[in-house]
Amino acid sequence: MRRFLCLFAVSALLGITLRAQAPTMVTAIRAGRLLDPEAGRILTNQIILIEGTRIRDVGPNVAIPAGAQVIDLSRMTVLPGLVEAHNHLALTYKPEPESNIYYYTYVQESTALRAIQAASNGMQMLNAGFTIVRDMGNNALYADSALRQAIEQGWIPGPTIINSGIIIGGMGGQFFPTPEMVKEHNIVYPEYLDADTPDEIVKAVRQNVLFGAKVIKICVDCKPYGYTADDIRLFIKEAAKVGMKVEGHVQTEAGARNAIDAGIWSIAHSTGLNDEMHKLMAQKGIWRAGTDTPMGLDGHPVSPQAYQRIVESLKNAYDNKVPLTFSTDADYYVAGKTRGEVVIDFLRTWKDAGIPNADILRAMTINGYKVSETEKTRGPIKAGFFADFIAVPGNPLDDVDALRNVQFVMKDGQVFKKDGVMTPASFFHGGPVNGWRIR
Ligand SMILES: [Zn+2]
Repeated sequence: MRRFLCLFAVSALLGITLRAQAPTMVTAIRAGRLLDPEAGRILTNQIILIEGTRIRDVGPNVAIPAGAQVIDLSRMTVLPGLVEAHNHLALTYKPEPESNIYYYTYVQESTALRAIQAASNGMQMLNAGFTIVRDMGNNALYADSALRQAIEQGWIPGPTIINSGIIIGGMGGQFFPTPEMVKEHNIVYPEYLDADTPDEIVKAVRQNVLFGAKVIKICVDCKPYGYTADDIRLFIKEAAKVGMKVEGHVQTEAGARNAIDAGIWSIAHSTGLNDEMHKLMAQKGIWRAGTDTPMGLDGHPVSPQAYQRIVESLKNAYDNKVPLTFSTDADYYVAGKTRGEVVIDFLRTWKDAGIPNADILRAMTINGYKVSETEKTRGPIKAGFFADFIAVPGNPLDDVDALRNVQFVMKDGQVFKKDGVMTPASFFHGGPVNGWRIR
């Protein structure tokens, strides 16, 4: 008894709960086909053993321990979770009432409302098979950090979020406000964070780090007074102090040249990218998050001429061996579709660019883990990695549109979707079960 009390006191001091350790749940998945995107091949009749949140073993002859929960996906193709490398989950602009102009969305919708929308969008993404989302700003006052924290602390289900906090740009960001809207109270903030001098650049990076960013996002050339290569180098240097990378929104060739010259981590959008820029990006290993919008998304028209340019640019990047990510920038409401369904529609552009299915799958998985910097912990279906994966009928190597029909999703070792139906109950908790210290 005395010993117990002593142990109790020590435990209380350390904040440890003295509770009988629940046995770690073991789950065995029978995978009829297992897609290895790295090799671009299918392995048949594999068993994936999951213990707690991680994969313990994978192979054809893995023994299933007594008492393990067995999930039969023997008629499915199991593959690693998908990555969306550029989205804005706490932003949804709409045809009504704002005519798809997100400046008005920003004026009308609070950070609190947008954070709740982000929670919903995150679940919609996970339902479509996206287990990692890079969330690159335009999320009001750190709704993206709140989303990541809520998921990581264990309140709600959602993809792993790599979020940028507020987009940092020269005065005005991507907005064109009136003088009275800037001089009185700077309406640009908090959708954008102005940084026009070296001191302001350092301080802006630090503000985002303090408030939960995991990557830094900058507007390279949103305004004629965009950032020079030296400005971008300063961003990269400051972000590197805390191990973070920098993504640049780029829309002009001059902006692309500065970003590439500075050695930026990733470039978002393709309007500034031509054959020469692609060759330089390939040389330097700079990620391309092209946000390659297809035609025919209701309420979000892309002209045939614009689409031809988008497709040719993606094809040119592929031919030049630029490291490609699957990225959409799909931050708008398309009636009748979930956020995940809008995002997966971007497969059309990749198919029209003639990119082989195996390479589309690599962009959506392996390259996604690399640009998110999770490739050593999360993504690949290998022993020791977090248990995130999905299953679809058919074989995506033969028909990549099989990805439109995700039937099963596992995230952190728990089943989020089974037989085509979301079953998220085990993800909801009345408290931060993974720890309130997660920031
Ligand atoms: Zn964007």
